[in-house]
Amino acid sequence: MISVRTAKGYDLPIQGAPLETSQTIALPATVAVLPEHIPFVRPRLAVAEGDRVAVGDLLFTDKTNPRFRFLSPGGGRVDAIHYGPRRVLREIVIRRDAENEPVTSLGRPLDGDAIDRYPRAELVAHLLAGGVWPLLRALPYRDIADPEQVPPAIFVSLDHREPFQVPPARYLENNRALFELGLRALKRLSPTVHVHADAADRAFCEAHQELITHRVQGRYPADDPGVVLFQVRRSPEENTAWFIDGQDLLLMAQLLQSGAYPTARLFAVAGTGAAAPRYVASRMGAPIKDLAGEIGCRDPRYLVGGVLRGYTGDPEGHMGLYETALAVLPEPGDVDFLTLFRPGPNKPTYSRTFLSALRRAPLPMTTNVNGGRRACIACGYCADVCPVDIWPQMTLKSILAEEVEEYLAQGLLDCVECGLCTYVCPSKIELAATLQAAKHAHRKEQA
Ligand code: SF4
Ligand code: SF4
Repeated sequence: MISVRTAKGYDLPIQGAPLETSQTIALPATVAVLPEHIPFVRPRLAVAEGDRVAVGDLLFTDKTNPRFRFLSPGGGRVDAIHYGPRRVLREIVIRRDAENEPVTSLGRPLDGDAIDRYPRAELVAHLLAGGVWPLLRALPYRDIADPEQVPPAIFVSLDHREPFQVPPARYLENNRALFELGLRALKRLSPTVHVHADAADRAFCEAHQELITHRVQGRYPADDPGVVLFQVRRSPEENTAWFIDGQDLLLMAQLLQSGAYPTARLFAVAGTGAAAPRYVASRMGAPIKDLAGEIGCRDPRYLVGGVLRGYTGDPEGHMGLYETALAVLPEPGDVDFLTLFRPGPNKPTYSRTFLSALRRAPLPMTTNVNGGRRACIACGYCADVCPVDIWPQMTLKSILAEEVEEYLAQGLLDCVECGLCTYVCPSKIELAATLQAAKHAHRKEQA
């Protein structure tokens, strides 16, 4: 097992970690798929409102690569198709049949020996047809892996450092054989498969030491696949490695083992505004309100995917394909009068502005950013936390000046979109979003 240490990064001291108990909730009445939150996909609808679908039936494909198929996580009726501004396809909602939910067969079940003998091209076709291929993503853009390529390596990410994700010990419990089946499939796709886990979870690393190839040390986002690659790569060719989340690898293995589209998901529901932070077993694309349960604040904001990388979810909406974390944070309500002149014993602070810097205890967090945007004051905090040694304020200037070669040389494509630079910036500059947009624009130009 190789040790990988990342010196930079930052762990947010937030209250509201999930309790150690897991809860299985009743199967939801509706489930959904959210094309809007699948990066770089241009959906071509295969259903209309009122159509009947089974679990595993096609909902839409990608116009750019029609081999990318997105299947229904529920069996019943297409209840609604929601569009956003400029006809962006937001959400396809399925109202499940309460009884005898129909399920489509997606091929014969395969065991490990059959997978080892399966020709690679046929395995790729099986995963594409089974709708789990989009779970494999490629660095540096984090887009869906190109099925025509053989990647230099695949990183299996047992990543959970961003508050608050599901720790791998939870979903691997009783699923170790399934996980190993998934690894056998990945080894048919790439000559090198890495599995990395957080060294701080010592008991987990010891219990699964035959599976784990890299033990990662450091603060968030040290266990992100892009950060691990940044630390271990030996040549530029490795920059196009693929990665898959540990829970997603289980889904892939379930498809291979059962021949049916896998839909079970374990979610982390957490944050200062969650009345009962916990892990919840439910269905892929479950409704946000069902998962959130009781709320502990008057005016909650739902962050789908996490505090730093997530997006604001509609309370009446559903979880996306990739997201397994739901953070609930209170909106700030009344603005604190003269907030900077108060000692702030309970306010999270990176810049040591508040008294809370003296204690390491988890603190309540709201969505208040404590101030408005102003000019960069060259404090260097953004560079201090960046895990891949970018100087975000310099890269931002190059992006604004459209100096493409300059910002690429500064390492834009290494950015793992962790959101830390924006979080720590005292001038409230949207560094991470600007860098991410520049990365996406660069990919489009390359395409
Ligand atoms: S530049 Fe990218 S990797 Fe660095 S802190 Fe900002 S978002 Fe994270
Ligand atoms: S953290 Fe914000 S204010 Fe400080 S150097 Fe970076 S961009 Fe400028």
